[in-house]
Amino acid sequence: AKGAGRNGYRFFDREMDKDVGERLRLSNDLRLALARNEFVLHYQPQIDLRTQEVIGAEALIRWQHPELGLLAPGRFIGIAEDTGLIVPIGEWVIRMACHQAAAWQRAGLPPLVVAVNLSAVQFMRGDLVGTVASALATSALPSRCLELELTESILIQDAENILGTVQRLNAIGVQMSIDDFGTGYSSLSYLKRFAVDKLKVDQSFVRDLCSDPDDAAIVRAIIQLARSLGLKTIAEGVETAEILALLQELGCDEAQGYYFAKPLPADNFSAFLSQRLS
Ligand code: C2E
Ligand code: CA
Ligand code: CA
Ligand code: CA
Repeated sequence: AKGAGRNGYRFFDREMDKDVGERLRLSNDLRLALARNEFVLHYQPQIDLRTQEVIGAEALIRWQHPELGLLAPGRFIGIAEDTGLIVPIGEWVIRMACHQAAAWQRAGLPPLVVAVNLSAVQFMRGDLVGTVASALATSALPSRCLELELTESILIQDAENILGTVQRLNAIGVQMSIDDFGTGYSSLSYLKRFAVDKLKVDQSFVRDLCSDPDDAAIVRAIIQLARSLGLKTIAEGVETAEILALLQELGCDEAQGYYFAKPLPADNFSAFLSQRLS
């Protein structure tokens, strides 16, 4: 019975490392979460620093757990990757983000690029290219309105199939950005090999941008590198007007962060947008 199982877990938790207990519980619950429709996407606005317009939204997953409440991705994405569940969950994210972006366009909001986070596991297992193509077709979202956020850890793997998959995604016409840029690997050769469009300056460099000269030097270098390669830059984790002003001075193209808005449920996001437009 369910009650007995729950008591069983409570006993288990006391005996074992709390993290191990939580992991076990969450990985069991995660198996049912898709069918039970427990995932939601929140959307964080991305702002063009030249025009101050909202030009995009990053889709960030949350899990409405029946007992634990709303869980941030840090609590379950790792488990989803280890169990392979990230493949169907990631597919749901791609479909939902395309559906939402298309719905906003039909509702008369200005066209936005919706950005989706991808995990390396989605490149290894499942049919990522087929999923993206079918999500775009089903939602009737133009392919240029979908952006895929890749991490350096995906791109430094020299597996033949990664390059092939990225090339096929490029051919579909989706945009591609490199998330957490600067935190991963010192080799930049993948920037030549993969035709990415944008670098996302990691928030660890943005947080103390105004007080730490090393961070300022790194961000300046990333922006110059991007410029000379013809790539755009977006800074994440922008929390203050001072940081925003410095980023503008450094020539960063776009920004997102709590200074503008936290990730918002879909309805609040469209309200935020309408309010800015009025
Ligand atoms: P990320 O892609 O680097 O996303 C940025 C994280 O920073 C988000 O945390 C966001 O809520 C948070 N953030 C945004 N603005 C600010 C700010 O001004 N200050 C601070 N301190 N934080 C800010 P979140 O939503 O908890 O997501 C954490 C990570 O989970 C993401 O990091 C991403 O790696 C992963 N993730 C989220 N959604 C998905 C998904 O659908 N699929 C996969 N594979 N990973 C996802
Ligand atoms: Ca991201
Ligand atoms: Ca990031
Ligand atoms: Ca990150």
